[in-house]
Amino acid sequence: MPQGFKRGSAPNEPGWTNCIFCGKPVGKAERSRERVIPMWMLRATGDPNRVIKIESDPITGADVVRPASTFHFPACKPCNEKYGKTLEARAKNAIESLMAGKSLAVARCYWLLDWLDKVRVGLWLGYNMLHKEEFAPKFRIDQRIGIKDRVAIVSVDPDDRTTGFALGGMDNQIFRTSQAGMYLKINNLRILSLSFDGFVSRYAGMPFPKEVLALSENLEASMAMMEKTDYRVKQDWKAFDVPGATIIAQSSFWLANCSDDETFDMYINETTIPRFRRIPRIRKRADLEQFVRTHLISNATGSFGYHPNPRQKLRFGRAKDNTDWHFMRSLYALFIREVLPLNPKRVVDPDGTRRGALVRLISQPVHLVGHSSEAPF
Ligand SMILES: [Zn+2]
Repeated sequence: MPQGFKRGSAPNEPGWTNCIFCGKPVGKAERSRERVIPMWMLRATGDPNRVIKIESDPITGADVVRPASTFHFPACKPCNEKYGKTLEARAKNAIESLMAGKSLAVARCYWLLDWLDKVRVGLWLGYNMLHKEEFAPKFRIDQRIGIKDRVAIVSVDPDDRTTGFALGGMDNQIFRTSQAGMYLKINNLRILSLSFDGFVSRYAGMPFPKEVLALSENLEASMAMMEKTDYRVKQDWKAFDVPGATIIAQSSFWLANCSDDETFDMYINETTIPRFRRIPRIRKRADLEQFVRTHLISNATGSFGYHPNPRQKLRFGRAKDNTDWHFMRSLYALFIREVLPLNPKRVVDPDGTRRGALVRLISQPVHLVGHSSEAPF
Protein backbone atom coordinates (compact mmCIF):
# COMPACT_ATOMS: atom_id res chain seq x y z
CA MET A 1 0.00 0.00 0.00
CA PRO A 2 1.49 3.36 -0.92
CA GLN A 3 2.11 6.02 1.66
CA GLY A 4 -0.55 8.61 2.27
CA PHE A 5 -3.39 9.69 4.44
CA LYS A 6 -7.01 8.74 4.70
CA ARG A 7 -9.53 11.46 5.19
CA GLY A 8 -11.27 11.57 8.54
CA SER A 9 -14.88 10.60 8.89
CA ALA A 10 -17.57 11.78 11.25
CA PRO A 11 -20.83 10.29 12.53
CA ASN A 12 -23.42 9.85 9.83
CA GLU A 13 -26.79 10.66 11.35
CA PRO A 14 -29.89 10.95 9.22
CA GLY A 15 -32.95 12.95 10.23
CA TRP A 16 -33.53 16.68 10.31
CA THR A 17 -34.12 17.15 13.99
CA ASN A 18 -30.38 16.99 14.42
CA CYS A 19 -28.40 19.95 15.69
CA ILE A 20 -26.75 21.80 12.80
CA PHE A 21 -23.59 22.22 14.90
CA CYS A 22 -22.97 18.90 16.63
CA GLY A 23 -25.35 16.57 14.77
CA LYS A 24 -26.94 15.21 17.94
CA PRO A 25 -30.69 14.61 17.74
CA VAL A 26 -32.64 17.39 19.49
CA GLY A 27 -36.19 17.04 20.77
CA LYS A 28 -38.70 19.86 20.24
CA ALA A 29 -38.51 21.08 23.85
CA GLU A 30 -34.77 21.70 23.83
CA ARG A 31 -34.52 22.81 20.22
CA SER A 32 -33.47 26.35 19.37
CA ARG A 33 -33.01 28.15 16.07
CA GLU A 34 -29.71 28.84 14.42
CA ARG A 35 -29.76 31.49 11.77
CA VAL A 36 -27.04 30.64 9.28
CA ILE A 37 -27.27 34.24 8.12
CA PRO A 38 -27.13 35.86 11.55
CA MET A 39 -29.54 38.56 12.72
CA TRP A 40 -26.72 41.03 13.40
CA MET A 41 -25.73 40.78 9.75
CA LEU A 42 -29.30 41.14 8.54
CA ARG A 43 -29.72 44.25 10.72
CA ALA A 44 -26.41 45.73 9.56
CA THR A 45 -27.39 45.35 5.92
CA GLY A 46 -31.05 46.45 5.88
CA ASP A 47 -34.47 45.44 7.19
CA PRO A 48 -33.95 42.06 8.91
CA ASN A 49 -37.46 40.96 7.91
CA ARG A 50 -36.98 41.63 4.22
CA VAL A 51 -37.65 38.89 1.73
CA ILE A 52 -34.47 37.45 0.27
CA LYS A 53 -33.72 35.22 -2.66
CA ILE A 54 -32.56 31.91 -1.21
CA GLU A 55 -31.66 30.32 -4.54
CA SER A 56 -32.89 29.65 -8.05
CA ASP A 57 -35.28 26.75 -8.49
CA PRO A 58 -33.08 24.04 -10.07
CA ILE A 59 -35.82 23.07 -12.55
CA THR A 60 -37.71 26.26 -13.41
CA GLY A 61 -34.93 28.76 -12.66
CA ALA A 62 -37.44 30.89 -10.74
CA ASP A 63 -36.31 32.77 -7.63
CA VAL A 64 -36.99 30.95 -4.37
CA VAL A 65 -37.70 33.69 -1.84
CA ARG A 66 -38.53 33.83 1.86
CA PRO A 67 -38.18 36.31 4.73
CA ALA A 68 -34.51 36.46 5.67
CA SER A 69 -35.26 36.11 9.37
CA THR A 70 -36.93 32.72 8.81
CA PHE A 71 -33.91 31.09 7.17
CA HIS A 72 -33.01 29.07 10.25
CA PHE A 73 -32.25 25.50 11.20
CA PRO A 74 -32.52 23.37 14.34
CA ALA A 75 -29.75 23.55 16.91
CA CYS A 76 -29.41 22.26 20.44
CA LYS A 77 -29.38 24.93 23.13
CA PRO A 78 -25.83 24.32 24.44
CA CYS A 79 -24.39 24.64 20.93
CA ASN A 80 -26.40 27.73 20.07
CA GLU A 81 -25.33 29.42 23.29
CA LYS A 82 -21.71 28.43 22.87
CA TYR A 83 -21.50 29.63 19.25
CA GLY A 84 -23.60 32.73 19.89
CA LYS A 85 -21.52 33.97 22.83
CA THR A 86 -18.13 33.29 21.34
CA LEU A 87 -17.86 32.84 17.61
CA GLU A 88 -20.81 34.99 16.50
CA ALA A 89 -19.91 37.86 18.86
CA ARG A 90 -16.26 37.74 17.78
CA ALA A 91 -17.13 37.62 14.08
CA LYS A 92 -19.44 40.63 14.46
CA ASN A 93 -16.62 42.51 16.14
CA ALA A 94 -14.08 41.58 13.43
CA ILE A 95 -16.44 42.36 10.54
CA GLU A 96 -17.45 45.73 12.03
CA SER A 97 -13.76 46.64 12.30
CA LEU A 98 -13.15 45.66 8.69
CA MET A 99 -16.19 47.59 7.46
CA ALA A 100 -14.88 50.65 9.30
CA GLY A 101 -11.59 50.33 7.44
CA LYS A 102 -9.62 49.38 10.55
CA SER A 103 -6.78 46.89 10.74
CA LEU A 104 -7.36 43.47 12.28
CA ALA A 105 -5.04 41.75 14.74
CA VAL A 106 -3.88 38.29 13.68
CA ALA A 107 -5.87 36.71 16.56
CA ARG A 108 -9.04 38.25 15.16
CA CYS A 109 -8.26 36.96 11.66
CA TYR A 110 -8.62 33.46 13.13
CA TRP A 111 -12.09 34.42 14.39
CA LEU A 112 -12.99 35.57 10.92
CA LEU A 113 -11.75 32.33 9.34
CA ASP A 114 -13.64 30.26 11.94
CA TRP A 115 -16.84 32.19 11.33
CA LEU A 116 -16.52 31.84 7.55
CA ASP A 117 -16.16 28.07 8.07
CA LYS A 118 -19.34 28.13 10.13
CA VAL A 119 -21.35 30.13 7.58
CA ARG A 120 -20.10 28.06 4.66
CA VAL A 121 -20.88 24.70 6.29
CA GLY A 122 -24.17 26.07 7.65
CA LEU A 123 -25.29 27.20 4.20
CA TRP A 124 -24.23 23.87 2.72
CA LEU A 125 -26.26 21.94 5.31
CA GLY A 126 -29.12 24.41 4.97
CA TYR A 127 -29.35 24.25 1.20
CA ASN A 128 -29.24 20.48 1.22
CA MET A 129 -31.94 20.38 3.90
CA LEU A 130 -34.16 22.68 1.84
CA HIS A 131 -33.98 20.34 -1.09
CA LYS A 132 -35.57 17.56 0.93
CA GLU A 133 -33.51 15.03 -0.95
CA GLU A 134 -32.05 12.23 1.08
CA PHE A 135 -29.00 13.82 2.58
CA ALA A 136 -26.86 12.30 5.28
CA PRO A 137 -23.93 14.65 5.82
CA LYS A 138 -20.65 13.15 6.95
CA PHE A 139 -20.01 16.15 9.15
CA ARG A 140 -21.69 19.17 10.72
CA ILE A 141 -20.38 22.58 11.69
CA ASP A 142 -18.57 21.34 14.83
CA GLN A 143 -16.50 18.98 12.76
CA ARG A 144 -15.44 21.50 10.18
CA ILE A 145 -14.28 24.67 11.94
CA GLY A 146 -10.55 25.15 11.46
CA ILE A 147 -9.98 21.60 10.29
CA LYS A 148 -9.21 21.86 6.59
CA ASP A 149 -6.84 24.23 4.83
CA ARG A 150 -8.66 27.53 4.45
CA VAL A 151 -8.36 30.86 2.71
CA ALA A 152 -10.22 34.13 2.84
CA ILE A 153 -9.66 36.74 0.14
CA VAL A 154 -10.89 40.03 1.55
CA SER A 155 -11.51 43.40 -0.06
CA VAL A 156 -12.63 46.49 1.85
CA ASP A 157 -13.84 49.60 0.06
CA PRO A 158 -13.66 52.57 2.46
CA ASP A 159 -15.65 54.78 0.05
CA ASP A 160 -18.56 52.39 -0.49
CA ARG A 161 -21.55 53.59 1.58
CA THR A 162 -24.11 51.14 0.16
CA THR A 163 -25.79 48.57 2.38
CA GLY A 164 -26.88 45.04 1.64
CA PHE A 165 -25.48 41.60 1.47
CA ALA A 166 -25.11 39.01 -1.25
CA LEU A 167 -24.10 35.40 -1.43
CA GLY A 168 -22.75 33.57 -4.43
CA GLY A 169 -21.11 30.39 -5.62
CA MET A 170 -23.56 27.95 -4.07
CA ASP A 171 -25.52 26.79 -7.10
CA ASN A 172 -22.90 24.46 -8.53
CA GLN A 173 -21.89 20.86 -7.99
CA ILE A 174 -18.63 21.68 -6.22
CA PHE A 175 -20.42 23.58 -3.47
CA ARG A 176 -23.29 21.06 -3.27
CA THR A 177 -20.90 18.15 -2.74
CA SER A 178 -18.04 19.70 -0.82
CA GLN A 179 -18.93 23.30 0.24
CA ALA A 180 -15.41 24.17 -0.96
CA GLY A 181 -16.03 27.87 -1.45
CA MET A 182 -18.45 30.80 -1.42
CA TYR A 183 -18.67 34.50 -2.08
CA LEU A 184 -20.02 36.84 0.54
CA LYS A 185 -20.64 40.57 0.33
CA ILE A 186 -21.55 42.53 3.44
CA ASN A 187 -21.97 46.26 2.82
CA ASN A 188 -18.54 47.50 1.72
CA LEU A 189 -16.82 44.15 2.35
CA ARG A 190 -16.24 41.41 -0.22
CA ILE A 191 -14.96 37.99 0.84
CA LEU A 192 -14.17 34.75 -0.94
CA SER A 193 -14.04 31.92 1.60
CA LEU A 194 -12.56 28.61 0.47
CA SER A 195 -11.61 25.45 2.32
CA PHE A 196 -10.49 22.01 1.18
CA ASP A 197 -8.09 19.23 2.15
CA GLY A 198 -4.58 20.21 1.12
CA PHE A 199 -5.83 23.40 -0.51
CA VAL A 200 -2.96 25.71 0.46
CA SER A 201 -0.40 23.27 1.88
CA ARG A 202 1.99 23.49 -1.06
CA TYR A 203 1.96 27.31 -0.91
CA ALA A 204 2.41 27.18 2.87
CA GLY A 205 5.54 25.06 2.45
CA MET A 206 3.82 22.13 4.12
CA PRO A 207 3.59 18.57 2.75
CA PHE A 208 1.01 18.61 -0.02
CA PRO A 209 -1.08 16.03 -1.92
CA LYS A 210 0.64 15.28 -5.21
CA GLU A 211 -2.05 12.87 -6.31
CA VAL A 212 -5.35 11.90 -4.68
CA LEU A 213 -6.66 8.37 -5.18
CA ALA A 214 -9.99 6.76 -4.33
CA LEU A 215 -9.78 3.42 -2.53
CA SER A 216 -11.26 0.58 -4.59
CA GLU A 217 -12.77 -1.09 -1.51
CA ASN A 218 -14.58 2.15 -0.56
CA LEU A 219 -14.88 4.78 -3.27
CA GLU A 220 -16.10 7.35 -0.74
CA ALA A 221 -12.69 7.20 0.96
CA SER A 222 -9.62 8.70 -0.60
CA MET A 223 -5.94 8.91 0.07
CA ALA A 224 -3.28 11.31 -1.06
CA MET A 225 0.26 10.70 -2.18
CA MET A 226 2.08 13.33 -0.19
CA GLU A 227 5.13 15.29 -1.17
CA LYS A 228 7.05 17.74 0.93
CA THR A 229 8.45 21.14 0.04
CA ASP A 230 11.05 23.24 1.83
CA TYR A 231 8.75 24.41 4.67
CA ARG A 232 8.87 28.03 3.55
CA VAL A 233 5.89 30.09 2.50
CA LYS A 234 5.83 30.46 -1.27
CA GLN A 235 5.18 33.70 -3.12
CA ASP A 236 3.42 32.14 -6.11
CA TRP A 237 -0.17 32.35 -4.87
CA LYS A 238 -1.19 33.46 -8.35
CA ALA A 239 -4.35 31.36 -8.46
CA PHE A 240 -5.53 33.07 -5.25
CA ASP A 241 -4.54 36.53 -6.30
CA VAL A 242 -7.31 39.07 -6.57
CA PRO A 243 -5.11 42.14 -7.17
CA GLY A 244 -5.44 44.66 -4.34
CA ALA A 245 -7.38 42.33 -2.03
CA THR A 246 -5.77 40.80 1.06
CA ILE A 247 -5.36 37.05 1.46
CA ILE A 248 -5.41 35.34 4.86
CA ALA A 249 -4.84 31.58 4.96
CA GLN A 250 -4.07 28.68 7.22
CA SER A 251 -2.92 25.13 6.52
CA SER A 252 -3.79 22.22 8.78
CA PHE A 253 -3.44 18.47 9.02
CA TRP A 254 -4.81 15.60 11.01
CA LEU A 255 -2.30 13.86 13.27
CA ALA A 256 -3.97 10.50 12.66
CA ASN A 257 -2.82 10.78 9.05
CA CYS A 258 0.74 10.42 10.32
CA SER A 259 0.29 6.67 10.47
CA ASP A 260 3.91 5.94 9.62
CA ASP A 261 7.29 7.46 10.48
CA GLU A 262 7.79 8.98 7.07
CA THR A 263 4.61 11.07 7.06
CA PHE A 264 5.15 11.94 10.71
CA ASP A 265 8.63 13.27 9.92
CA MET A 266 7.24 15.17 6.94
CA TYR A 267 4.82 17.08 9.14
CA ILE A 268 6.38 17.20 12.57
CA ASN A 269 9.99 18.25 12.67
CA GLU A 270 12.07 21.17 13.86
CA THR A 271 11.11 23.18 10.81
CA THR A 272 7.38 22.84 11.17
CA ILE A 273 6.91 22.85 14.94
CA PRO A 274 7.45 26.62 15.25
CA ARG A 275 4.70 27.12 12.67
CA PHE A 276 1.97 25.38 14.64
CA ARG A 277 -0.11 27.46 17.00
CA ARG A 278 0.22 24.69 19.56
CA ILE A 279 2.98 22.13 19.59
CA PRO A 280 1.32 18.74 19.10
CA ARG A 281 1.82 16.25 21.89
CA ILE A 282 1.27 12.57 21.33
CA ARG A 283 1.27 10.54 24.52
CA LYS A 284 -1.82 8.46 24.05
CA ARG A 285 -3.93 7.18 21.17
CA ALA A 286 -6.60 9.87 21.57
CA ASP A 287 -3.92 12.53 20.93
CA LEU A 288 -3.92 11.46 17.29
CA GLU A 289 -7.50 12.69 16.97
CA GLN A 290 -6.45 16.32 16.71
CA PHE A 291 -5.90 18.74 13.93
CA VAL A 292 -2.79 20.87 13.93
CA ARG A 293 -2.87 24.27 12.31
CA THR A 294 -0.06 26.48 11.09
CA HIS A 295 0.18 30.15 11.98
CA LEU A 296 -1.77 32.58 9.88
CA ILE A 297 -0.33 33.32 6.47
CA SER A 298 -1.09 36.57 4.70
CA ASN A 299 0.14 39.00 2.08
CA ALA A 300 -0.95 42.00 4.16
CA THR A 301 2.63 43.24 4.53
CA GLY A 302 3.32 43.11 0.80
CA SER A 303 4.68 39.56 0.53
CA PHE A 304 3.36 36.23 1.79
CA GLY A 305 4.57 35.18 5.22
CA TYR A 306 3.65 33.55 8.49
CA HIS A 307 2.34 35.74 11.31
CA PRO A 308 3.31 34.09 14.61
CA ASN A 309 2.47 37.17 16.70
CA PRO A 310 -1.30 37.15 17.43
CA ARG A 311 -1.22 40.89 18.23
CA GLN A 312 0.27 41.94 14.92
CA LYS A 313 -2.17 44.22 13.11
CA LEU A 314 -2.95 43.50 9.48
CA ARG A 315 -4.35 46.05 7.07
CA PHE A 316 -6.81 44.95 4.41
CA GLY A 317 -6.80 46.31 0.87
CA ARG A 318 -9.38 47.04 -1.78
CA ALA A 319 -9.47 44.88 -4.90
CA LYS A 320 -8.55 46.81 -8.03
CA ASP A 321 -11.52 45.26 -9.81
CA ASN A 322 -13.91 45.41 -6.87
CA THR A 323 -17.00 43.96 -8.51
CA ASP A 324 -19.19 40.96 -7.71
CA TRP A 325 -18.48 39.63 -11.18
CA HIS A 326 -14.71 39.70 -10.66
CA PHE A 327 -14.99 37.90 -7.31
CA MET A 328 -17.31 35.25 -8.72
CA ARG A 329 -14.96 34.67 -11.64
CA SER A 330 -12.03 34.28 -9.24
CA LEU A 331 -14.05 31.82 -7.15
CA TYR A 332 -14.81 29.59 -10.13
CA ALA A 333 -11.23 29.83 -11.36
CA LEU A 334 -10.09 28.60 -7.94
CA PHE A 335 -12.60 25.75 -8.05
CA ILE A 336 -11.26 24.63 -11.40
CA ARG A 337 -7.54 25.22 -10.86
CA GLU A 338 -7.11 24.38 -7.20
CA VAL A 339 -10.07 22.31 -5.93
CA LEU A 340 -10.80 19.90 -8.81
CA PRO A 341 -7.19 18.62 -8.98
CA LEU A 342 -7.49 17.67 -5.29
CA ASN A 343 -10.31 15.25 -6.09
CA PRO A 344 -9.44 11.65 -6.94
CA LYS A 345 -9.31 10.86 -10.62
CA ARG A 346 -8.00 7.31 -10.25
CA VAL A 347 -8.70 4.31 -8.06
CA VAL A 348 -6.11 2.39 -6.04
CA ASP A 349 -6.43 -1.27 -5.05
CA PRO A 350 -5.23 -2.54 -1.66
CA ASP A 351 -2.11 -3.95 -3.35
CA GLY A 352 -1.23 -0.49 -4.68
CA THR A 353 -2.37 -1.05 -8.29
CA ARG A 354 -3.81 2.13 -9.77
CA ARG A 355 -6.64 2.08 -12.20
CA GLY A 356 -7.93 4.72 -14.60
CA ALA A 357 -10.67 7.24 -14.85
CA LEU A 358 -13.03 7.64 -11.95
CA VAL A 359 -16.48 9.10 -12.39
CA ARG A 360 -17.36 11.11 -9.32
CA LEU A 361 -20.19 13.39 -8.34
CA ILE A 362 -17.87 16.32 -8.54
CA SER A 363 -17.09 15.63 -12.20
CA GLN A 364 -20.56 16.82 -13.18
CA PRO A 365 -20.57 20.07 -15.12
CA VAL A 366 -19.63 23.19 -13.21
CA HIS A 367 -22.03 25.99 -13.94
CA LEU A 368 -20.10 29.09 -14.70
CA VAL A 369 -23.11 31.30 -15.09
CA GLY A 370 -26.22 31.91 -13.06
CA HIS A 371 -24.64 32.84 -9.75
CA SER A 372 -26.75 34.83 -7.36
CA SER A 373 -24.46 37.75 -6.69
CA GLU A 374 -26.28 40.11 -9.03
CA ALA A 375 -29.34 39.76 -6.81
CA PRO A 376 -28.30 41.46 -3.57
CA PHE A 377 -30.38 40.21 -0.67
ZN1 LIG B 1 -25.58 20.77 19.25
